[in-house]
Amino acid sequence: MELGYGTEHEAFRERVRTFLDAQWPPPDTQARNATPDQIRCFRRAAIDAGYLYRNIPRRYGGSEQEPDILAAQIIREEFAALRAPTELTGQGPQMLAPTLLERGSEWQKEHFVRKAIEGEHIWCQGYSEPGAGSDLASLRTTGVLEDGEWVITGQKIWTSHWKHAHYMFALVRTEPEANKHAGISYLLLEMDQPGIEVRPLKQITGDNEFAEVFLDGARTPADWIVGERGEGWSVSRSLLKHERNMIGSANRSAGLFKSLLRLARKVQIDGRPAVEDRGVREALAHIHGYVETQRCSSYVQLTRELQGRDAGTLPMFNKITNTNIGQDISRLSHRLLGAESALAPRGQPSGRSSGNEKWMNQFMGSLGMAIAGGTTNIQRNIIAERGLGLPRDSAAAKTDES
Ligand SMILES: Cc1cc2nc3c(=O)[nH]c(=O)nc-3n(C[C@H](O)[C@H](O)[C@H](O)COP(=O)(O)OP(=O)(O)OC[C@H]3O[C@@H](n4cnc5c(N)ncnc54)[C@H](O)[C@@H]3O)c2cc1C
Repeated sequence: MELGYGTEHEAFRERVRTFLDAQWPPPDTQARNATPDQIRCFRRAAIDAGYLYRNIPRRYGGSEQEPDILAAQIIREEFAALRAPTELTGQGPQMLAPTLLERGSEWQKEHFVRKAIEGEHIWCQGYSEPGAGSDLASLRTTGVLEDGEWVITGQKIWTSHWKHAHYMFALVRTEPEANKHAGISYLLLEMDQPGIEVRPLKQITGDNEFAEVFLDGARTPADWIVGERGEGWSVSRSLLKHERNMIGSANRSAGLFKSLLRLARKVQIDGRPAVEDRGVREALAHIHGYVETQRCSSYVQLTRELQGRDAGTLPMFNKITNTNIGQDISRLSHRLLGAESALAPRGQPSGRSSGNEKWMNQFMGSLGMAIAGGTTNIQRNIIAERGLGLPRDSAAAKTDES
């Protein structure tokens, strides 16, 4: 097994470091205090240097580099070490843009990709419906083509990012006569229009990250369809692949573990730093084992992709491991903080919190990780059936036939 990157790629790493030395953090500023303008400028410089949005052509706002999985990994490692801004997160840049690049028409790429990756357009995902979550292909929202426009009627649920979303990418039943997977199309639509009503869902934290979206004759132009009529299921599959990669990132687990370690150094148990407590050390070592396992498993995935081989069920394993690590880290943070960890201010938007309450948000988020982008049970089913060749889940098979 070759665990190094080789001379050529180590030289590339040096170039990335030189770039970062010159560009990040901005002069006289600590990384965490950088302004949105400074971050925007840095991202632009990193794109020009070929370090961000490498697989996106320049005409759509990317840096158009030759595919090089090892170079991409080195960039991730070096940027993470300095907490330098990387590509924008969210459903637009991480899910829609790659999907349009794979399946969109030329005008869709030109019109939507750059603005999605620069954060100018915010997108939300309209997949789940009441009664169509894990069994997504049962969705009932309909789209009918009338006078050059799709007219959409139905309901979506658990829509994240609704607060700022300008657009939605949605799965809609346009071919009612076809079987359930073949009857779905993938449509893009504007959120601000009379046929759409958004009702926020209040969470136990007081926050309202998700919404129900009611579509009552919402309209979108005929050519705002990605792929052909009835191809929405396969278009959505390529999208979910991107989402799983986003969620299953080993870097994210490693970053979270570092934060936990900082917490264990700061918090005291019996007058000494918690990190010196035997029980805490054991728990940290246990989690660290899984973080390292996930890192190695990501390298195996990377190697397979590098060799042009199918990664198989590894991304599913990585998503499950990532979910478990997130939950273990949350549990230990609660143990370290005690009652204080329950004091998250109500209405605090997740991800924007600082101080100890961020651990409560992390805990809440870690529960959602087991559900978002395909539940852990469903990932296990796929591993069992496709990875291990076990017989198909009989309940799921029955639903698919209906
Ligand atoms: C943080 C978060 C963000 C989300 N954001 C969005 C979004 O932006 N847009 C969107 O469209 N949706 C979003 N969702 C919804 C998400 O995709 C669904 O919740 C998910 O697909 C599960 O569907 P469901 O909630 O209907 O649960 P169900 O499908 O009803 O499942 C309920 C339980 O039954 C289990 N189960 C179901 N079928 C099987 C089976 N065949 N075998 C074994 N177990 C099974 C599941 O694992 C689960 O534990 C989000 C969810 C979360 C948690």
